[in-house]
Amino acid sequence: MSHALYALFQSRCPADRNKTLLEADDGHRVTYAEADAEAARLARLLTDRGVRKGDRVAVQVDKSARALCLYLACLRAGFVFVPMNTAYTADEVAFLVDNAEPAAVICRPADESVVQGIAARAGDPMVLTLGADGAGSLADAAAAVPADAPVVDCDPDDLAAMLYTSGTTGKPKGAMLTHRNLAANGQDLVDSWRFTADDVLLHALPIFHAHGLFVAFHCVLLAGASMIWLPGFHRETVVRLLPRATVFMGVPTFYTRLLAGEDFDRDACRSMRLFTAGSAPLLAETHMAFQDRTGHAILERYGMTETGMLTGNPYDGERRPGSVGVPFPQVEVRVCGEGDRPLGTREVGGVQVRGPNVMKGYWRLPEKTAEDFTADGWFRTGDIGRIGDDGYLSIVGRAKDLVISGGYNVYPKEVEGVIDDRPEVLESAVIGVPHPDFGEGVVAVVVPADPAAPPSEDAIVTHCRQHLANYKTPKRVFVVPELPRNTMGKVQKAQLRETHADLFRA
Ligand code: ATP
Ligand code: MG
Repeated sequence: MSHALYALFQSRCPADRNKTLLEADDGHRVTYAEADAEAARLARLLTDRGVRKGDRVAVQVDKSARALCLYLACLRAGFVFVPMNTAYTADEVAFLVDNAEPAAVICRPADESVVQGIAARAGDPMVLTLGADGAGSLADAAAAVPADAPVVDCDPDDLAAMLYTSGTTGKPKGAMLTHRNLAANGQDLVDSWRFTADDVLLHALPIFHAHGLFVAFHCVLLAGASMIWLPGFHRETVVRLLPRATVFMGVPTFYTRLLAGEDFDRDACRSMRLFTAGSAPLLAETHMAFQDRTGHAILERYGMTETGMLTGNPYDGERRPGSVGVPFPQVEVRVCGEGDRPLGTREVGGVQVRGPNVMKGYWRLPEKTAEDFTADGWFRTGDIGRIGDDGYLSIVGRAKDLVISGGYNVYPKEVEGVIDDRPEVLESAVIGVPHPDFGEGVVAVVVPADPAAPPSEDAIVTHCRQHLANYKTPKRVFVVPELPRNTMGKVQKAQLRETHADLFRA
């Protein structure tokens, strides 16, 4: 099997190259042959302008068919694709451009002057634009060049993409992903999820993140399948188009939003064979409500930018709410205690993983890379978990979110589960903030189910006392209209900790 991704995709391309690769919601279609030609044109253009194999191409553009072809162009020419979150501010783009030192930056037309300013201070990379409609200086220039860029030979260990982590626990870090990493993980998913050329994936995820770019898109390309390509998650559009699809991939908030209207039912899912969820924990209630409404058990999987997908509930077999399932075929997973000592089943510890899917390291952070890998190649995920006797992994939380109060470990997810059981609570986030006596004090931030009837602090504390040890019970409870989340639906606990940092200080 070739590990150079573009060659691999070409080898899996349907015999009929006029097959639809993607269809936009306005009916615009792109065939496999057209995507290949567009990738060749964009690769030619960037090569003519001096971008070389191994150079980074940083991209902050809205989702469009051409944006996807730009990714293919980078793979074709051996450039390293560096997608940026479309929600990044100018400061965040500046951080990333300084850090990645790209040879080219592709941005939205409206951001051009700001990005030109950033580029001028950061080694002066070329700046081109691409709009949501596929137009912009990149498109104009590409129209004038032939579709003849060769497929550059890449070593399996060459970088294919560099993705910055979501920055949930600090500054985003560049994960260096090789052709081998992405090819191995894509194949695992195609095999585990039984992708075939007959599949139609309804694609509503952003493409600056591993979930939408690699998990979803690589499954389609490796199977020679098709996609319905949406600019983002729009509930009504998804419900309308689902009957033409066979697979849907979402973050948990997509599923709660789908369930919010009665028009989402068994009939809307009649052509579907698979729903997957990941990027953040899927609540057991969402899993159950979804199954009741549609007859489908959502397949929850777990992964991270640095490693691709690690575990998933089985395609055949029990999909267990609250568990992220078993390792994908080429992935090894273990749970360790102090000193990387492997723990037995049911014991809670740090999740470590190994396999051809695990990144080469963090870009220009050799110390962080050395800190996160063991001598024998296990990657410390930073997540805390437990493997059951049956081999199913459950994620208990993130090591950085662990609260140590009075010397006792408090796992926020456990406390959140108890608080969320109250009918007047929609959801909650539990954090630890500096406390003069306990080191950290447990604090709960709660979103009411009905803003007109919020729960009282007393009611929550009393409820927690009944169900949890004293040291786990929140010392303070705050009611807020909503939790701060990033675009992948992850709760920004660092932001909450900052807001309440001085709570227990004199
Ligand atoms: P940063 O590393 O910059 O702090 P991040 O970890 O949020 O940000 P990602 O790589 O996007 O960046 O997210 C991976 C993390 O998301 C995992 O380590 C895990 O904590 C969480 N995650 C992903 N899928 C699941 C899941 N199914 N259940 C629970 N947590 C999940
Ligand atoms: Mg992380």
